[in-house]
Amino acid sequence: MQVGVFSTKGYDREFLGPRGGEIQWVFHDFRLSAETAELARGCKAVCAFVNDNLDAACLQNLAASGVKLVALRCAGFNNLDLAAADHLGMNVTRVPAYSPHAVAEHAVALLLCLNRKIHRAYNRVREHNFALDGLVGFDLNGKTAGILGTGKIGRLAAGLLRGFGMRVMAYDPFPGNEWASAQGVEYRSFQDVLSGSDVISLHMPLTPETKHIVDGDALGRVKHGAFLINTSRGKLIDTHALIESLKAGRLGGVALDVYEEEEELFFEDRSEIVLQDDELTRLLTFPNVLITAHQAFLTREALAGIAEVTVENLLRFQSGKPFIEGTKLS
Ligand code: NAD
Repeated sequence: MQVGVFSTKGYDREFLGPRGGEIQWVFHDFRLSAETAELARGCKAVCAFVNDNLDAACLQNLAASGVKLVALRCAGFNNLDLAAADHLGMNVTRVPAYSPHAVAEHAVALLLCLNRKIHRAYNRVREHNFALDGLVGFDLNGKTAGILGTGKIGRLAAGLLRGFGMRVMAYDPFPGNEWASAQGVEYRSFQDVLSGSDVISLHMPLTPETKHIVDGDALGRVKHGAFLINTSRGKLIDTHALIESLKAGRLGGVALDVYEEEEELFFEDRSEIVLQDDELTRLLTFPNVLITAHQAFLTREALAGIAEVTVENLLRFQSGKPFIEGTKLS
C-alpha cells in the first residue's frame, strides 16, 4: 500500500521510514492542501501533520484521487473538516496521546527559561558579558499557577508545577475531581483562574468555543505581571490583544510554542526571507516574550509513539481490521 506523507521533515523519515513492512512511503516536503492533494494519486492513505490544510476542498480532491484514509500524525484535528470527511465517507485517524510528557515538560521549560531569562543570559555569557542587571526572576515556589484545560497534558503540567511548590488552580468544563483532590489542585471558574494566577498555562483544544478564549477581556482580568504560556494552539489567543497587553505592561512575560498565524511560517527555515507577518515581528521585539516554533512534541519518545500508532493504524486499515481504540475520528 502506498501512503503519501505530507509536510515531511528529516525526523519523520527517520521514525516512519524503517517501519511498516510492506507500506511504501511517498514522502513530500510540502504541505497538504486542496492544491497539493492531487499528488496523493495512487495512494490509498495519506499521513498529515498539524499545519496541513484538510478543508472540504482538500478532502474532496483526496477522495477523487482514490485516498480512503487520512492518518493524522498529531493529536489536534482543528485543521481538518470532520463534517466533510464524514460526508465523503473518508476514514480519519489521529494519535490522541503520544507523549503528553513532551508537551508538559516543554511548557515548564519555557516558563523556567522566560522567568530566569536563560535565553538572554546565554547570549550575554557567550559575549563575555557577565553582568546580571535585568536578569531578575521570581521563585516559583509559593506562587500560583493556573491550568486551563486538565486533559492529558494539563494534568502533567499541573503535577510538574506542584513539584516546584506552586499552588495550582485549574479550569476545565469537564473537571477531574478525583485527580484534582489527589494532586492538591483546586478547580475554579475561568475568571478566577485568570485573575488569581501568577502563571497561566493553556492546555485546551482549539474548537469554535475556545478560539480567542484569551482575548482582550480575558487579558484585562489577569494579575499584573502574570506570565502566560501557550503550548496548545495559537488561535486560543487573540494576538492583537496580546500585543496591546504587552505594550501596556500588564503581562510580565509570554512564552509561546504556537502562534495564531503559524501555518505559513513554522517548520521552515525562513531566515533568508523578509518576515511579512507584522504581529509576529512585533512579538519578537518584546524582551519578555519567548517563542519556539511548535516544537513541544519534539522528543524521541513522542516521535516513536506517533510512528507506532500511525503505522499500526495503516496496517490495520490495509488488512481490514478495526483501528486502535480511541484513534478513529471519522
Ligand atoms: P486532551 O483532550 O487530553 O485535554 C484537553 C482538555 O481541555 C480536556 O480536559 C477538555 O475538557 C478541556 N477543555 C475543553 N474546552 C475547554 C475550555 N473551554 N476551557 C478549559 N478546558 C477546556 O488534550 P491534550 O492531549 O492534553 O492536548 C492539549 C492541547 O495541546 C491541545 O490543544 C493540543 O492540540 C495541544 N498539543 C500541542 C502540541 C505541541 O507540540 N505544541 C503537541 C500535542 C498537543
